[in-house]
Amino acid sequence: MKKEVVQKLVAIVGEEFVSTKKDVLLTYSVSASTSYEPVLPAAVVRPADAHQVSQVIKIANKHRIPVTPRAGGSSLQGEVIPKKGGLVVDLLRLDDIHIYEDLRSVKVGAGINFGRLDKFLNKYDLWLPIYPGSSLSATIAGNVAVNGAGFGSSRFGCIAELVLGLEVVLPNGEIIQTGSEANPNAPGPFLRYAFGPDLTGLFIGSLGAFGIITKVSLKTFKRMHYFDYNTYGFQSAQDAERFVFEVKQDDLSTVWIAIYEGRILDFFLEMVGEEYGVPKHEWPPVTISMVIGRVRENQLENDVIAAREACERVGGQVIGIRELPRGEWNDRMRELARSSYVHGWHWRILYHHQPQSQWHRTIEEMWPLFDEYGIAGHTAGFQSGHGSYNYYPQIFYDPQDKDEEIKARAAHKELSKRLFKTGAVPFKLAPYWVDGITEMQTYLEFLRDIKEAVDPNNIMNPGVIPGIEHVSEEQ
Ligand SMILES: Cc1cc2nc3c(=O)[nH]c(=O)nc-3n(C[C@H](O)[C@H](O)[C@H](O)COP(=O)(O)OP(=O)(O)OC[C@H]3O[C@@H](n4cnc5c(N)ncnc54)[C@H](O)[C@@H]3O)c2cc1C
Repeated sequence: MKKEVVQKLVAIVGEEFVSTKKDVLLTYSVSASTSYEPVLPAAVVRPADAHQVSQVIKIANKHRIPVTPRAGGSSLQGEVIPKKGGLVVDLLRLDDIHIYEDLRSVKVGAGINFGRLDKFLNKYDLWLPIYPGSSLSATIAGNVAVNGAGFGSSRFGCIAELVLGLEVVLPNGEIIQTGSEANPNAPGPFLRYAFGPDLTGLFIGSLGAFGIITKVSLKTFKRMHYFDYNTYGFQSAQDAERFVFEVKQDDLSTVWIAIYEGRILDFFLEMVGEEYGVPKHEWPPVTISMVIGRVRENQLENDVIAAREACERVGGQVIGIRELPRGEWNDRMRELARSSYVHGWHWRILYHHQPQSQWHRTIEEMWPLFDEYGIAGHTAGFQSGHGSYNYYPQIFYDPQDKDEEIKARAAHKELSKRLFKTGAVPFKLAPYWVDGITEMQTYLEFLRDIKEAVDPNNIMNPGVIPGIEHVSEEQ
């Protein structure tokens, strides 16, 4: 990066918060994604607020420097790996939190992670009822940028459902506010769908391609203190799917529903079963681990009875082992972190949504493909809202074995194609989906048109929008 540009960045944020040192750049060349090649950026800048972010972006735009916004660095699909010679904008210094108790909302800076927000809201007996398994490092804004989900999503949906508005620095450096707060006289965030079309939605799941989110306004909820943990057994995937349909139709407050096929459950319990104190059991072909949560005890009692009835109605059996869902729920801020890294393998992940009535389709595609490619893998996931199941198959390989890695990558690509054909929907526009997505030309063209209008120099996370691969070069 030209010295003149670095000097301009220093003038904005101060010398302490700009680095071009190789050891610092190395730490920004990687993320939690295990199977992506590191890429060294040219510089890292750590602004303190939206105003500084705006000035930084204006410089980047002027010099056509590709920008990668970075927060917790916990994304798993290489999303936050920078562009060679690019600029990383680290947002962790934007760490303010403002609560609006009367409006039932909260506003957080882009550097606030789920763990910190949970601690803050706990003082008010409130919560943000979605916990990604990376909550102690993943930021809210980073999760909005990927439209993530987590524990709690089985009732509350993906994070998008909780967003009331965003403050965003656009690629030209302008700062916009969406939602009710677009009116500067508004007392705070209370309404997302305001002033015409849903501009908030443009930035959700955009992987930073349309701008940098500097603040997120969110709904808050009264903390639940009454929980029921139980496991339910089924002879077929279809019975289990029917059970989930029934409990959703009955509007039970299911904050966690995970469906496990026998061998996947064995794999998972091998990793965390002992720690969660799950007793040995002859598990049925399909098991559901479910947590019902409620603010009031009498509501919970009703839901528990209704869940039992629904299970029996579809020919299932209440297993009664509570340690599995209780362990998952209590460990919710890091459960996935431990179960993903407990072994020494590297893995590629394939986030997608299936209609929950088609939960079995991913399983049906996955196992034959693993056999075909001779690789190890499994899947995990949870029900995520109205009628969707959030899946994340993982394909493992030994990082020392290049051939195995090549096979894993090829299998990953092929699985994305096959899953797309089943009707599955990518969790986000991660680049590895690009080859898999077909028959959506008009939609993708429209997306490209928007990108070109908002970011004509394509400086923001170039490569995210399929078909716009050109990486701007510094001039
Ligand atoms: C063990 C483990 C478990 C996980 N479990 C879950 C889970 O349960 N649910 C889930 O959804 N995810 C999960 N993840 C993935 C990851 O934690 C999420 O994607 C997370 O939301 C990313 O947030 P981050 O702050 O780490 O973002 P980063 O990794 O820093 O960035 C993610 C993407 O968003 C962009 N970005 C970041 N901040 C901004 C911003 N302020 N404005 C615009 N763009 C931005 C980046 O450029 C990048 O494209 C898990 C990860 C790990 C390691």
